[in-house]
Amino acid sequence: MLKYACRDVGVECDFVTTGATVEEVKEKAFAHAAVAHADILKGMTESAMAELTKAVEASIKPV
Ligand SMILES: [Zn+2]
Repeated sequence: MLKYACRDVGVECDFVTTGATVEEVKEKAFAHAAVAHADILKGMTESAMAELTKAVEASIKPV
């Protein structure tokens, strides 16, 4: 089982999600971010998004 928490990428948020694969966890994380952190994502350039995606991938840890 893999786990992602918003806090692990420095966001003040209690959201935690789990999944069987990195892709699944990432999908859930970005679905959450699109709703809860729309304000953060809105102002992001494509390269900032790429950086964020990398940070999210790096913070997905086995539990
Ligand atoms: Zn969050």
